Formats: sequence, structure tokens, C-alpha cells
Amino acid sequence: MTPLVDAYVGLGSNLDDPADQVRRALDELDSLPLTRCLAASRLYASRPVGPQDQPDFINAVAHLRTRLSPLALLDQLQALEQRHRRVRQRHWGPRTLDLDLLLYGNETLTLPRLQVPHREMASRAFVLLPLAELAPQLQLPDGRRIVDLTGTLATTGEVEVLPDNAN
Ligand code: ADP
Ligand code: MG
Repeated sequence: MTPLVDAYVGLGSNLDDPADQVRRALDELDSLPLTRCLAASRLYASRPVGPQDQPDFINAVAHLRTRLSPLALLDQLQALEQRHRRVRQRHWGPRTLDLDLLLYGNETLTLPRLQVPHREMASRAFVLLPLAELAPQLQLPDGRRIVDLTGTLATTGEVEVLPDNAN
């Protein structure tokens, strides 16, 4: 059997009540086979990457402990995206739910369908800030610590914690 592995998943939504999409997805992650959600960050609001003519995003990061292999976990994440009726209209366009596998243990994977660590995570405030909330001392496989990466961000002002009870 695959050993227990700590994995981190980035969640994002900017359509159809994004905060609700993300809250529901956090519950659903805890229900995946062979997987528990140990902790979730607060919700963050961020300006979209790429085209600006779309709503702001709600983001969060979840800490999972799983016995799923990396590709089995990706399959589950993509099935969950589909259940939220995600439609891919354009690259970096609006979406009801985006689930990115940020880290899978200390592994580095370069497969056609899966790159881990997620290739953009080290430069994205909407990933690093919620991840730093959960695990500031966590290191990437190359040894860089999350808390140090947050210090290298050019700007974090466009990413803010969503006030409690806000939609
Ligand atoms: P993005 O998240 O960059 O906006 P998508 O969510 O549309 O883009 O993902 C496009 C593809 O990225 C997926 O088909 C998936 O196979 C691939 N992919 C590669 N690495 C990862 C990862 N770490 N997490 C999620 N998807 C990944
Ligand atoms: Mg994605």
C-alpha cells in the first residue's frame, strides 16, 4: 500500500459564489478516498492573473494526508473540478473551481499531466500566503522555505484575507 503522504492543494474560484465553491471543495477534499484534510487556510481574495475583465478570485490552501498516488490524487482533483461544473473557456479565464496539486511529500515530478511542485507556486502570492499560514517552515524539495519565498514576492497587496462571514 502507498504510504501516508502530506500533500498541499491550492483552491481557486471566481464564478458562481466563489467563497461557497471553495468552502464546499474543502469539505469534499476531506471525503476523497484514502485522504483526510488535516487543515485549511482562511479564504483569501485576489485579483485575477492574466485577463483583468473577470471577477476577483477566492483562494485557499488545504493540507491533505493521503495514501493516493500522485496521479490518483490528480484524477480525484480533476473529477472534483468537473463536479463543480468547471468549464475551461480560455487559459487563465474564469472558473468555478481550480484545484492545483502544489506539493506531494518531498517529491519532484515531471510527468506530462503533472508537475510537482506546481510550476508557478513559488511566485504566486495567492498560493504562498495561505500556504505560509498553514506551514511557514515547510520546504520545497529544493530546500526553499515557504516563509522565505513569501519575502521575495514583488507584491502581496493584491491578496487579502477575506473577512469572516463575507461572501
Ligand atoms: P492552471 O491551473 O494553470 O490555470 P489548469 O487548471 O487548466 O491550468 O490545468 C491545466 C493542466 O495542468 C491539467 O490538465 C493538468 O494535467 C496539468 N497539471 C500539471 N501539473 C499540475 C499540478 N501540479 N496540479 C494540477 N494540474 C497540473
Ligand atoms: Mg489548475
